[in-house]
Amino acid sequence: MPRPGEISLAHRGVLFLDELPEFDARALEVLRQPLEDKVVTISRASGTLTFPANVMLIAAMNPCPCGFHGDPTKDCTCAPSAIARYQKRLSGPLLDRIDIHLTVPRVEYEKLADTRLGESSATVRARVVGARARQTARFAGTGIVTNAEMGPSQVRDHCALDAAGEGLMRAAMRQLQLSARGYHRVLKLSRTIADLAGADRVSAAHLAEVLQYRPQDAG
Ligand SMILES: [Zn+2]
Repeated sequence: MPRPGEISLAHRGVLFLDELPEFDARALEVLRQPLEDKVVTISRASGTLTFPANVMLIAAMNPCPCGFHGDPTKDCTCAPSAIARYQKRLSGPLLDRIDIHLTVPRVEYEKLADTRLGESSATVRARVVGARARQTARFAGTGIVTNAEMGPSQVRDHCALDAAGEGLMRAAMRQLQLSARGYHRVLKLSRTIADLAGADRVSAAHLAEVLQYRPQDAG
């Protein structure tokens, strides 16, 4: 139980921002601090208040203002300068704090109508529950619940790479120009991918999957 005046980080939520580049650039920049600190502090003339803000940030955006940039079936009508301006509305430091960047292409009719089913939600759920159970066991008694909350010493303890993983990480640090924060975020997400696979150690394959999700142009 938190003491009076102390903010509980136990309550977690999801913050979903649709059409991310449409938000005011200053609002997005001030979002960085609560994402790091898990609290938001609001200062007014009458006083300063701090609220819990422990969220998982999920955001969606189009590839360009018209939405068809890169679409195989329909032409994008945006000028190259408009596309660049649209994508530049998001700063590198904000993108750096988003661990998983996924491009979601249009789903063709044939795929939607395909009656052969992929994995069921129940199967995926079981995998997620298993990964959470591994994290619960790993962090028992530490006050930490998920891999994302690990500090640097826990990252060292739980995300040690093998020789192949270290080689890959060294190359990725150079190519993606990972910041120290980016480096730790990559390792923590690799731990989660390994947990989803039921693996005790983080392998080069887990790391490689995570590196695909990094923004390609944010440090
Ligand atoms: Zn367009």
